[in-house]
Amino acid sequence: MGSLEDKKSFMKEFIERKPNRCSKCKGRLKYIGGGHYKCYDCDNEELDDFGKIKDYIDEHGASPAVVISDQTGVPVDLINGMLHEGRLEIPEGSSIYIECESCGCSIRYGRFCPDCIRARTNNLNGIFFNPDVGEKPKNFERKQEGKMHFMNRW
Ligand SMILES: [Zn+2]
Ligand SMILES: [Zn+2]
Repeated sequence: MGSLEDKKSFMKEFIERKPNRCSKCKGRLKYIGGGHYKCYDCDNEELDDFGKIKDYIDEHGASPAVVISDQTGVPVDLINGMLHEGRLEIPEGSSIYIECESCGCSIRYGRFCPDCIRARTNNLNGIFFNPDVGEKPKNFERKQEGKMHFMNRW
């Protein structure tokens, strides 16, 4: 899967792009959770890429990665990286999800659905320790799939 290299470059890029100084007064920032940082000096809030995307999805719902990238300025690679790592989850009830890389069904985060991981590892416990496993959305209606758009396919 080559995922170790992918993960390393994803983390490197994510960390490099993190805000470390206030954009208004150049003051130091304190992490306050959810990808938000607050300036010690002027109370200005800064967002890292995770915060930008999370806020966007909270406000507008899940959208194709290209659209989110367009709106937030976060590169598509990083959006997909965060979804694959499970840092970012697509909320239940969205009309858009990401695609299991093996069977193509809908998952909210990760790279593979639990069924595919189970088939691969042939071991029920395997799925709990596999960082690539995602979660299928609940109450997802299969008949919607004709008009479904996947976040990681465009
Ligand atoms: Zn400041
Ligand atoms: Zn699958």
